[in-house]
Amino acid sequence: MAVLKIARMGHPVLLERCRPVPDPGAPEIRRLVRDMIDKMEDAPGAGLAAPQVHVPLRLFVFRVQPHRSTGALDDTVIGNTVVINPVVEPVGQEKQLRWEGCLSIPGLHAAVPRFARVRYSGVDCDGRPVAAEVSGFHAGVVQHENDHLDGILYLMRMTDFRQMGFNDEVARAEELAGRMEAIRAEWAAAETDPAARVPQTGAFG
Ligand SMILES: [Zn+2]
Repeated sequence: MAVLKIARMGHPVLLERCRPVPDPGAPEIRRLVRDMIDKMEDAPGAGLAAPQVHVPLRLFVFRVQPHRSTGALDDTVIGNTVVINPVVEPVGQEKQLRWEGCLSIPGLHAAVPRFARVRYSGVDCDGRPVAAEVSGFHAGVVQHENDHLDGILYLMRMTDFRQMGFNDEVARAEELAGRMEAIRAEWAAAETDPAARVPQTGAFG
């Protein structure tokens, strides 16, 4: 297995508009797809686009693991999938903010507006059609990977830069928000029922 190196933000290949794949079944494309899937699993990531491994061609791999799916009917769980020469179109105009990270921008993640539903199509290495209409995480990852093929990184889609941070800081902030929520609920209960009043638990410690 070839070990692919991931291009990080700042490398010009990530800003290129990628070329269509002339022959999806060519041995070098099959090899590239195999290596990209290995890299995605190893990273681990939910998707990887060819320019992220320094190949400016229109293809990406992705997966939706059960823990990623929102559980919505069309947020389909799917194993390792390749989409070559993809076309991604919004279904309706509704957008949702979704938290995303990117293997080319390690350590950060942020809330990005994405179409809530999209339809995508393309082919696999055997020329078989790959197509679906999806929502939720599935819709988000497909839009993120397809953007890479046009030289667009998720940061370029952001509208609120307050919703961005280093992974560990955001995780800490989320944990703190959860604890504060619990304290608020405790005090709300105490207000309506004095018997439920409990000593401060030192949650800010
Ligand atoms: Zn990315």
